[in-house]
Amino acid sequence: MQLEQLKGVFGSTTKALEILYLNYNLKPVVRQGFYDNEIGRVKDFCRTHGLAYETAPYKVILADKQKRYSDKGFKARVDDPRRGMFFIYISKDERKATEARIFEMKDNHKELGLILGYPECCVDFFVENWPERSQLDNSYVFPALKNTDGYKFPFYTNIIKRSQDTTLLNHFPHSFKCEKSINMAKDRLKMLYELEARTASELVHELKCRVRIGTRTIEFS
Ligand SMILES: [Zn+2]
Repeated sequence: MQLEQLKGVFGSTTKALEILYLNYNLKPVVRQGFYDNEIGRVKDFCRTHGLAYETAPYKVILADKQKRYSDKGFKARVDDPRRGMFFIYISKDERKATEARIFEMKDNHKELGLILGYPECCVDFFVENWPERSQLDNSYVFPALKNTDGYKFPFYTNIIKRSQDTTLLNHFPHSFKCEKSINMAKDRLKMLYELEARTASELVHELKCRVRIGTRTIEFS
């Protein structure tokens, strides 16, 4: 599997990378949203590569239409006229893809997070903050920041640039110093260096940055 080819099928670097993690057993299940016109080629790809996939029986409409990127969406009927994405669950293990679809259908965030391979500390963090954050923008950057001391963080957990298609993680770390998230990102980066060294170093370069969030200026290095 080549990153460029995957980008053509899945539509972004972040999504393409997740498929690579799946392929190299660094992730058990991938959950991604696609619009109508993208679904056919994604399913074709899965069939050609012997990957199991499941499609959610509803669509998700992004809550903030003004922004190109949003962490927040709501479920709607498949025949709802508004433009929505369909969640597809992809795995080497058919049972896991099915389970992930069912957990999400039932809003079981804990089991969904675990089957997607997120660290348990971060899943618990999400579950704990969900009632409040889901009413806002459904971003967990502020609560994670609250859990992190200091101003210098490892670049591995930089999820601030996820909207610019630049991230090694696909979950919100419970803290920017979460050890399990750091190790996960390290394994992924190691794989990427072996496959596409140039892309890997460009990604690291992008992730190392200084950002201002609220009243704090933090540095990922
Ligand atoms: Zn964690």
